[in-house]
Amino acid sequence: MKFDVKNIREDFPILKKQINGKQLIYFDNAATSQTPTCVINSISDYYNNYNSNIHRGVHSLSEEATEAYEKARGKIQIHFNAKHKEEIIFTSGTTHSINIVSNGFLNLIGEGDEIIVSGLEHHSNIVPWQMMCKKTNSKLKVIPLDKNGELDLKEFKNLVSKKTKLVFLNHVSNALGIINPIEEIIQISHSYNALVLIDGAQSAAHFKIDLQKLNVDFFTASAHKLCGPTGVGFLYGKKELLEKIEPFMGGGEMISDVTFEKTTYAEIPHKFEAGTPNISGVIAFGVALDYMNSLGFENIRQYEDKLLKYATEKLKEIDGLIIYGDVKNKTSVISFNISGTHSYDIGSILDKYGVAVRTGQHCAQPIMDHFDIPGTVRVSLSFINTFEEIDILQEAIIKAKSMLS
Ligand code: PLP
Repeated sequence: MKFDVKNIREDFPILKKQINGKQLIYFDNAATSQTPTCVINSISDYYNNYNSNIHRGVHSLSEEATEAYEKARGKIQIHFNAKHKEEIIFTSGTTHSINIVSNGFLNLIGEGDEIIVSGLEHHSNIVPWQMMCKKTNSKLKVIPLDKNGELDLKEFKNLVSKKTKLVFLNHVSNALGIINPIEEIIQISHSYNALVLIDGAQSAAHFKIDLQKLNVDFFTASAHKLCGPTGVGFLYGKKELLEKIEPFMGGGEMISDVTFEKTTYAEIPHKFEAGTPNISGVIAFGVALDYMNSLGFENIRQYEDKLLKYATEKLKEIDGLIIYGDVKNKTSVISFNISGTHSYDIGSILDKYGVAVRTGQHCAQPIMDHFDIPGTVRVSLSFINTFEEIDILQEAIIKAKSMLS
């Protein structure tokens, strides 16, 4: 299929929207991607035609819903190349997935153990580990950043040791767009028998990920950053690890046998899917992945790389504009400030021109502290964006700057 952005944009009804009398230009894709019609239709199709609870009923509607839900699990397994279908656990998103793992290890980690997190993390991949360390008396160590915002691998090699039990980092930083050297970090961690969790919230939308090739122990992503609905995502874990860790949510669906004395848990994946899940969301997640695969992840990547290069050049033409994390190995995000202005003010003025960007800390306060700034303006690109939109962004930033100075 030809990668034609003009045609692709027709799949996204929201792009016709006017904001403050101007055509919407959406540069907040890293927070939430926009939703194509096929995904929206899949949700209404579920509620119009086969809304029913899953895994429970013998009636036809329930069987139809269960089949569609489990089919979506198969799609995620195939797309991310997990070895077993039951290694895919549906969750409410990346945050939920990370909390499953951090709570799951409460009984397996103790005093004297160390866990390592990168300095480039979203709060979702910091706070659960701090909570875990507090409960287990284990120690949290942090991979520092260099002056450009990249992870200092030399320091990581000094930090990791036989005491290290778990290593957590994101594949791509949401605040800066930097791509982390996860292959190397996984390999080094494994040489010390440490397990690795990769937060793929920002990478899964931009390139194809092969979990078996990565040989990662845990991986997670959220559907709403992959053209899917909000409130759904998945946790991947190697089968033997998922079998070993305890679930932290108890309830219906996750049990095998319940008496007042004792409960035995269901097999994976159900052990971690307590309660009624987001059934329509899971099914729509599968449809979203089908949609992105129909465009082709390689096409998406190539196009987005061109957009990033063009946008970076255009923004660098603006006097006083400072880009953070301006390194070679990055994707789809430009985080910047304009000297003498506050990111919030720039973002508010851009909104008047219909341009949606994110401002502030981007749920990554330690990165802002590293650069000694309160926040940035973040432009996050996707394949739905055009080069013309970047030209308009540049003009709008120049106007904002002159209004503020
Ligand atoms: N990790 C990263 C790198 C993110 O960018 C985000 C969301 O922005 C999250 C975790 C949290 O994702 P969710 O809110 O879908 O749980």
